[in-house]
Amino acid sequence: MNMLVDLPDPSEERVAAALKRLQLTHLRDTLAAVLSEAAKEEWTYLEFLDRILGREVDSKQGKRIQMGMQIAHFPCVRTIETFDFAFQPSVDERLIRELSTGNFIAHGQNVLIFGPPGVGKTHLAIGLGRKIVEQGHTARFTTATALLAVLGKAESEGVLSDKLTEYAKPRLLIIDELGYLPFERRAAHLFFQLVNRRYEKGSLLVTTNQRVSEWGMVFGDEVLATAILDRLLHHSHTLLITGESFRLREKRKSGLIRSRLPNTDLERPEREAGPESRRKTESQRGGENR
Ligand code: ADP
Ligand code: MG
Repeated sequence: MNMLVDLPDPSEERVAAALKRLQLTHLRDTLAAVLSEAAKEEWTYLEFLDRILGREVDSKQGKRIQMGMQIAHFPCVRTIETFDFAFQPSVDERLIRELSTGNFIAHGQNVLIFGPPGVGKTHLAIGLGRKIVEQGHTARFTTATALLAVLGKAESEGVLSDKLTEYAKPRLLIIDELGYLPFERRAAHLFFQLVNRRYEKGSLLVTTNQRVSEWGMVFGDEVLATAILDRLLHHSHTLLITGESFRLREKRKSGLIRSRLPNTDLERPEREAGPESRRKTESQRGGENR
């Protein structure tokens, strides 16, 4: 009987220590199984390297994405794949696919999603945010109300600059539900400062139920609203959802309500927020919204 078989192999310990030092944690955790798999399937040296490195890369990538999702603070899981484009034909599926590639992030472009309640604005915002995180970028989701509460508090505590820097950092900042509540004057100024900080540096994705012409009311100041809009729209993709609320359809299907409700929220929206508005010069736009 060979008494040596049960003794630890010193090279095994060295490998474990090196894997730890190099932070190849997946390989470290699965080493024994991988070694026996390799022996059983008679992997070549190249196959061995290819597989262990590939698995380590996948594992690291998976962890990074998982952490990115946590940092992003998405309120729930919504994906582009589960968005029913047939139900909402006013959503340009091709544009959503294009935005899903993350090209807009590379160019610091903004995305504005307009539409009445329940039409999938938040769903698309989260879905696009997830795509961006999956591509390895940082994203952060917040609502306009929560954002302004945080900025207002930071200002009163004398740490506004730090907070603005924090919100300027993610490659994509998603601000959901702009316009559901009008801003106080101070809050509107804080919002302007944030938009200004990110202007031409980091992408913003904003969802709103308000027409562009109502932004003056939202911000309580036409000049400020125009300044904010100019920056948001300057390099932007706009989506206008004009359809029916998905929630109401679900309720109707279950018999809770019977008839279709008319969509009264956004009359003549194309002129104000459609793709053409992107191509208008700043002065034209400014004049139009006054
Ligand atoms: P909004 O932000 O415009 O008010 P949401 O994105 O919150 O609307 O949508 C309301 C609910 O309906 C969510 O649960 C969302 O996932 C779902 N929903 C909306 N539109 C669609 C769609 N076209 N396909 C699948 N689910 C949808
Ligand atoms: Mg919403």
